Amino acid sequence: MLESLLYIDGEWRHAAGGRSYPVHNPATGEVVARAAHAAVEDLDLALAAAARGFETWRRVSPYDRSAVIRKAVDLIRERRDDIAALLTMEQGKTLAEAKGELGVCLANLEWMAEEATRGYGRVLASRTPDVRQHLVKQPIGPVAAFSPWNFPAQTPGRKIGGALAAGCSVILKPAEETPLTAAAIVRAFHDAGLPKGVLNLVHGVPGEISTRLIRSPVIRKISFTGSTAVGKQLLALAAEGVKRATMELGGHSPVVVFDDADPVGAAHMAVAAKSRNAGQVCTSPTRFFIQRGIYEAFRDAFAARARDLRIGPGDDPASQMGPLANARRITTIEAMIADAVGRGARLLAGGSRIDRPGYFFEMTVLENVPADALAKVEEPFGPLALLEPFDSFEEVVAAANDTPYGLAAYAVTNLASRATAMAEAFEAGVIAINNYSVSTPASPLGGVKESGYGFEGGAEGLDAYLITKSIMHRME
Ligand code: NAD
Repeated sequence: MLESLLYIDGEWRHAAGGRSYPVHNPATGEVVARAAHAAVEDLDLALAAAARGFETWRRVSPYDRSAVIRKAVDLIRERRDDIAALLTMEQGKTLAEAKGELGVCLANLEWMAEEATRGYGRVLASRTPDVRQHLVKQPIGPVAAFSPWNFPAQTPGRKIGGALAAGCSVILKPAEETPLTAAAIVRAFHDAGLPKGVLNLVHGVPGEISTRLIRSPVIRKISFTGSTAVGKQLLALAAEGVKRATMELGGHSPVVVFDDADPVGAAHMAVAAKSRNAGQVCTSPTRFFIQRGIYEAFRDAFAARARDLRIGPGDDPASQMGPLANARRITTIEAMIADAVGRGARLLAGGSRIDRPGYFFEMTVLENVPADALAKVEEPFGPLALLEPFDSFEEVVAAANDTPYGLAAYAVTNLASRATAMAEAFEAGVIAINNYSVSTPASPLGGVKESGYGFEGGAEGLDAYLITKSIMHRME
């Protein structure tokens, strides 16, 4: 049986008291590993290690930090196939997606290794001749990072990359479901020669860990990716110590398909995007608004393609979509479908759990879901697409923005005027037109409204771990 240990102060160790918890394969429901369950003593050791690690790492030159990150990148690349197999085993997504995710993780880390050397300050114009005024950027301090189960490599990689590039130390708590991938990434940094205490890994009960870490005076910055509900709890804890936070929370992304688009091509591209990671993506397209003239053609092509998806274990090369990551998602999606149908929505495809071991669910398409239905109000975070027609631009802008979320938004049109107007009208942090890619290493990913604030990736993703200090120097 695989075992995922804690990594504290440069050492792999069992939890104090020896407790551990089971990790399941969502394609079979079987226990495939156990993860050490951190006790309070372990968390305090990790905090002390991160405090010392910060004092070491902040003094390492950005060029040397960059070299360690690059070395870890080389090791992850060499181990990519093995890590992808672990990722699929503990999370469920197809092997092709797992390898793709590791590719993105590597690209992000490489980009941050380069950006490490660019934390530039600024010299300001002085008001008097004997004063020099300049701004310097410095690492903010030890970081508590919380990563989710939907991208077990990419999200830890982004947080670790930004923090280490800036000169911060990190305590990472990955999601309970996916400790093995995070441990493989941490192992690469260990093997790359990262000094002890700079990166620490803990597993256990999320609420216990986040409360202990965020309340500690050691931690200066919180980075969380997960649900809006948990983000609000962590922000409340961060507020007690007035600590900086990056919150990458949920989304409920709209897609506006205008009537100049090819309805069948647009529908096929949309199903491919929706089925990525079985819809368990914060930027997953969910609310589809289709201009009335092409509505029926789009709807029929979408539903047919959804029914044709080959759903199966992630390690079967024939599978186009894997299982959901945990049993909670099945319950949530089932409740959303029942609620929507009860309120008059029409089921066009799917709708049910697949009768086999593991957490498989059909790609589900609903039409005309009322605004007060659960599926419209809460993030489905699963293989659920909601379709409806629209007539005017003003009407669709209002409908697309009628949600507390504001992460990603999409439009499909060949008319530049429509694309520009729609991109500017969406209340969202990231927009894609005629494609579903909203994140690259150089571009900041972040939301507005209740989807959170702050950025990961890009120059903003390095700045997230830096403070700006203003220095006034009067010379004799
Ligand atoms: P959840 O809200 O219980 O947990 C979401 C994540 O937060 C998990 O990774 C979990 O480990 C972590 N978490 C939970 N309580 C925590 C706490 N007190 N302190 C620190 N971390 C904590 O929900 P879930 O059932 O695991 O996931 C479903 C919901 O989570 C979805 O509806 C979706 O909104 C959200 N989610 C979002 C993302 C994203 O990329 N933004 C990723 C995963 C999950």
